Amino acid sequence: MKFNTKLIHGGISEDQETGAVSIPVYRTSTFHQHKLGDNPTWEYGRTGNPTRHALEQLIADIENGKYGFAFASGSAAIHAVFSLFSSGDHIIVGNDVYGGTFRLINKVLKRFGLEFTVVDTQNLKEVEAAIKSNTKAIYLESPTNPLLKISDIAAISEIAHQHDLKTIVDNTFATPYNQNPLTLGADIVLHSATKYLGGHSDVVAGLVATADAKIAEELAFLQNSIGSVLGPDDSWLLMRGIKTLGVRMRVHQENAQIIFDYLKDNEKVGQIYYPGNPDGKDYEVAKKQMSGFGAIISFELKEGLDPKKFVESLKLIDLAESLGGIESLIEVPAIMTHSAIPRDIRLKNGITDELIRFSVGVEDSEDLLEDLKNAFSEI
Ligand SMILES: *Cc1c(COP(=O)(O)O)cnc(C)c1O
Repeated sequence: MKFNTKLIHGGISEDQETGAVSIPVYRTSTFHQHKLGDNPTWEYGRTGNPTRHALEQLIADIENGKYGFAFASGSAAIHAVFSLFSSGDHIIVGNDVYGGTFRLINKVLKRFGLEFTVVDTQNLKEVEAAIKSNTKAIYLESPTNPLLKISDIAAISEIAHQHDLKTIVDNTFATPYNQNPLTLGADIVLHSATKYLGGHSDVVAGLVATADAKIAEELAFLQNSIGSVLGPDDSWLLMRGIKTLGVRMRVHQENAQIIFDYLKDNEKVGQIYYPGNPDGKDYEVAKKQMSGFGAIISFELKEGLDPKKFVESLKLIDLAESLGGIESLIEVPAIMTHSAIPRDIRLKNGITDELIRFSVGVEDSEDLLEDLKNAFSEI
């Protein structure tokens, strides 16, 4: 089955009881047991729910895995995955991962004795040099947020396997439409499904997939033990979103290309970050491992131009955090999503005060261009 067909017919595509083509929302906390001690399929809503299960099968399918897990948020999914490790274990982490992942690592997981080394995952030598005797995994994002840096997932997975480490990839920005980390050699793929998979800015959720039976068994245990599971209503909403991932991504990316072409010739724009930029240094790796370039574009206004004035002049494009929704969302990382990072570190990482992150939606591109042109004329 090809990808867009899988989105609709993958997983468990109809209700086993009734044939309903939309999996029902099984809004129940417990299940009647016909015989005592019979080890029933369904027993308690945290352990398993048929609506959630259908979603979990679907993410496993579309990420080319075998086992899927749904969580209450992307952050809950990341927490559950890190819970595979124990006090004293060492994990290598990419230096441009989601801010909330850094917060989880530094303010929570380190208290439980996990050790981390932050590296530039674009630099394979740096990755390999960080491996220690207690290293258990390499955790990365590609593309990253907000600078859209691309790391070579296949090469990193190969290094990991040579040293008996697991590779974990946060695939939120690329989506399974463009990139399947498990196929590239990673052991675990995870998502903030709040973004493109949900796609409509109406649900907070996290998903994990793996093809490894042992990892899956441990994750199922952790999911049930920690208990940060996705409820049946949100599972249904997310499944509905996923069905249209393909048609949405096609338009998202078509629009992103048009916006990129406009921005690259704009004299008020400085540096542009977009994996589909043929002059960008990451273009070759992006082309190798992704089938499309996503629809996030970050760009700097030329020095002295006011990003506040610019974003506040937009009428259609929403000034908001988050990304991956059908509506175009724009933000200033220095003031919004990345404001928790001290300014000197932020600047060192390339996130300037003038940087703007644009999650290009699926509106008519003419309207987006008109809105941008108008805002540029105000600065
Ligand atoms: C948003 C995001 C997360 C966190 O997900 P939540 O659903 O907000 O908890 C993790 N990783 C990336 C790349 C994200 O964009």
